Amino acid sequence: MRQAVTTAVRRVELSDIREPGDPGPGEALLEIAAVGICGSDIGMWAATDPYAAFPIRQGHEFSARIAALGAGYQGPLRVGQLCAVEPLLPDHTCIACRRGHPNCCRNLRVYGAHLDGALTERLIVPVENLFPADDLTPELAAFVEPISIGLQMVTRSGLAAGDQAVIFGAGPIGQAVQVAAADRGARLLSVDVVPGRLDRALANGAELAVNSRADDPAARIAAWTDGDGPAVVFEATGVGAVFRTAIDVVAHSGTVVVAGTSNDDVPIPSLTLVRKEMNLLGSRNNAGVFGQAVDVVRRYRERCESLITQRYTLDRVPEAMAFGEANPASANKMMVLIGR
Ligand SMILES: [Zn+2]
Repeated sequence: MRQAVTTAVRRVELSDIREPGDPGPGEALLEIAAVGICGSDIGMWAATDPYAAFPIRQGHEFSARIAALGAGYQGPLRVGQLCAVEPLLPDHTCIACRRGHPNCCRNLRVYGAHLDGALTERLIVPVENLFPADDLTPELAAFVEPISIGLQMVTRSGLAAGDQAVIFGAGPIGQAVQVAAADRGARLLSVDVVPGRLDRALANGAELAVNSRADDPAARIAAWTDGDGPAVVFEATGVGAVFRTAIDVVAHSGTVVVAGTSNDDVPIPSLTLVRKEMNLLGSRNNAGVFGQAVDVVRRYRERCESLITQRYTLDRVPEAMAFGEANPASANKMMVLIGR
């Protein structure tokens, strides 16, 4: 079978490998259907992402059809079913896992980051990672994973209906947060530096979109909230200076949720942290909300479809990565379609 492997910085090579064989007990053999390429994939390929290490077969946002179930399987899954696949393999034993947070397991392995991912034709995964999504298209089922990232951020934030929230970053993760936050009935302001992304944020229901290259986001946010500041700020850029702005603009008693990753150290003003009694939260992967993310995609089907902007085949993955880096405005969610 074919695979696309990132072998070095900005280099994806196509190769033939052996079939994965038969699934063991508790496992399923999957026929990969669709694989999303996200900002972190481009970052890994370009080696700007802190998690980058080569060689790696990328692909952590994916859907697949079940080709076979391991011997002795008894449960609701059946061969042929289309599933959204949660790409996380926690160790189930560390302190985070024992406390119910396998998403930030100390020894977490993620398909496409630490383990060879889905940019291939077939893959074996544990059955507990499969979420049936027969009523979705393969592309929408692959879109569940980025939505789960946004949903985890919103779940962490405690966002309530009517709250005003600011999203820094209107790329794929910022857009996923926007869908999940809209589902909670929040009012949204989006900040980015790419005009095309801001247009997309407005089209998807943001009340205001601010270009931080042309405008002062702090002043616009203050005006939008009548000087109160937003109840919640989502940081989805990974830019240190933006993290600092998030802390400065959030309301007293408010919450900052950070999902953007970078190697920047950001000085945090402890006086502001205390005076505002701010909640400052990291957010990583998702903790038990993957099934809810399938439902969010079902409810926001058309909007999710509008966020899928390009489609490729497996042999065009090198082209897709280069296009994504060069075209941040038009490349929101690129999908690699595999097999039938
Ligand atoms: Zn663990």
